[in-house]
Amino acid sequence: MSGVRVGLHVCRGNWSRNEEVLLQGDYAPLLPAFRQMNVRQLVLEYATPRAGDIDVVGRALGDREIGLGVVNPRTETVETVAEIVARVERALAYYRPESIFLNPDCGFGCFANRCVNDEATAAAKMRAIAQAAGAVRDRYA
Ligand SMILES: [Zn+2]
Repeated sequence: MSGVRVGLHVCRGNWSRNEEVLLQGDYAPLLPAFRQMNVRQLVLEYATPRAGDIDVVGRALGDREIGLGVVNPRTETVETVAEIVARVERALAYYRPESIFLNPDCGFGCFANRCVNDEATAAAKMRAIAQAAGAVRDRYA
């Protein structure tokens, strides 16, 4: 299909603020499946240390686009622009600047009428992502 960007988000679960009950481990076991998939962009969680380091997927599949998770949708603390820029700069070791897309680790959605975050915090996290995107564009574009 021409003009359509196909991406895959691997969701580790976004239903609890308790990081200890959510799935953990890097993406190494999924690399064989990722290689077989005809997807241009892998949308992965890298704001939480539970997901391991970006070098695992970056070394193996740095020729794809990365939907880089740069904020944790479950935490009350809003990531700083500097923290987000640092995550992007780690990704630049494996990906061209135009192949990096910034996003939250997962959506800010609600489950069973219980939201993982409040609207003001979600909006502040999205603003931080936008500011960081501007900063890295100024630096690397
Ligand atoms: Zn998710």
